[in-house]
Amino acid sequence: MHWQTYFIEFSYLLASILFILGLKGLSHPETAKRGMHLAEFGMMMAIVGTLMHFEIVSFTWIIVGLLLGSTLGAAMGVWVPMTAMPQRTALSHAFGAFAAALVGIAEYYAYTHGFKPLVELGHLKMSAMGFEIMLGSLTTTGSLIAFAKLQGLVPGKPLVYRGQNIFNMLLLATTIGLFIYLIFVPTAVVPFYLMLGFAFLFGILLVLPIGSADMPVVMSLLNSYAGLASAATGFVLSNNVLIIAGTLDGFSGFILSILMCRAMNRSITNVLFGAFGSAATVAGVEGEQGEMREVGLEDIAVQLAYANQVVFVPGYGMATAQAQHVVRELGDTLEKRGVTVKYGIHPVAGRMPGHMNVLLAEANVPYSSLYELEQINPEFPSTDVVVVIGANDVVNPDARDNPNSPIAGMPILEVDHAKSVVVLKRGQGKGFSGLENPLFFKANTGMLYGDAKDSLTKLVGAVQHA
Ligand code: NAP
Repeated sequence: MHWQTYFIEFSYLLASILFILGLKGLSHPETAKRGMHLAEFGMMMAIVGTLMHFEIVSFTWIIVGLLLGSTLGAAMGVWVPMTAMPQRTALSHAFGAFAAALVGIAEYYAYTHGFKPLVELGHLKMSAMGFEIMLGSLTTTGSLIAFAKLQGLVPGKPLVYRGQNIFNMLLLATTIGLFIYLIFVPTAVVPFYLMLGFAFLFGILLVLPIGSADMPVVMSLLNSYAGLASAATGFVLSNNVLIIAGTLDGFSGFILSILMCRAMNRSITNVLFGAFGSAATVAGVEGEQGEMREVGLEDIAVQLAYANQVVFVPGYGMATAQAQHVVRELGDTLEKRGVTVKYGIHPVAGRMPGHMNVLLAEANVPYSSLYELEQINPEFPSTDVVVVIGANDVVNPDARDNPNSPIAGMPILEVDHAKSVVVLKRGQGKGFSGLENPLFFKANTGMLYGDAKDSLTKLVGAVQHA
């Protein structure tokens, strides 16, 4: 064997090991940074190995691609704010999936236009290639629509029409039918381009009826498709690192989607076909709730300053207000006064997995102060004050108490068991589910209206003078 072949195989093996170690590291906040660096190094090894390939005729286009990709990646890394991370991820998925689809299309073109011997385009190769192109194409357009929804370029609410699910299913069945036909007749060029077009169209129609708040689940599912498309690319190109990395990506994305659905007590089919958050699903669930009680800043400051234990429960509103730094400031101020401060983190608080962990880590809140749902729930009865910062659904007691609620069964942070609850939000706005929250009407709950960052900044000052 030539030394180049040894080098390529070695770098691919190293890259694969680093990807696995990287994923392992990402499973805990404390090791996540190291995991990320290991995966980055793995990716570099995979690129270096790929650049050693004998088939490369000219490096010109590769260098242009490297420069362009690196510039775009670096610019996005520096300028995209944390709040826009979901749509940035959607865009990355679209790029990755498009790359996989393009590799497949180029290979098919090479076989059918005399650049590669047509006899080599057997059933097995066509299966892998068709799979790659189909998944890659639908993931490309699906991720672009996800990006457009999250960025507000197309309406975020579910776009539904009569017979939508049936039409989508028929379209998918036709696309898969063409794919199966191609496995038996790989040279059928027209069915190939029809399959390609239908897959692109299916990606759009699959994501349009899904509300923007469900996008994280959809994206992690699309991510899983992109991974599987890459694994299929690996089979087409006989490239081991693509097979391993693609499979890791495919299954981790799938597991993440399931975990997110479980944390919301929803099924994947409900997310994909349920048009959750549309008027139809949430209508008719509101009843008489009573009055919400507004509390003054000074009152809250005194409660906090003289508490033994305070728990902060952040939600989507903390992310939109970018209030994470001032939350930590308030936490520090209270700790200096001898108050025990903890942070209760719901697995689907915010709009993407780990949303709250990432923001609080950015604000240097120590990991040891972050408590998961199962850890913090037993502590609420002995907590003096819970400060709910722009969270709504994840603290909605209806999920526990009302079997008819659309979110019945979703695990919640049981903040209503605390001695006192203070809710920071701007007004009467609902959460992602569009449901009323009985917590806000309870006797031990007080509302402090205003942007979370402004309210918290004022609270820091008020606690210092309490
Ligand atoms: P939420 O239920 O969406 O509620 C957010 C609340 O924040 C709103 O009621 C809003 O009320 C308030 N708010 C918005 N901007 C604010 C600001 N600048 N200052 C203060 N308050 C502000 O949020 P959540 O409790 O975090 O729940 C997350 C929801 O997303 C869950 O239903 C979950 O199932 C869903 N979801 C999450 C994920 C994930 O991966 N994390 C994935 C899919 C779906 P006002 O308008 O009155 O201010």
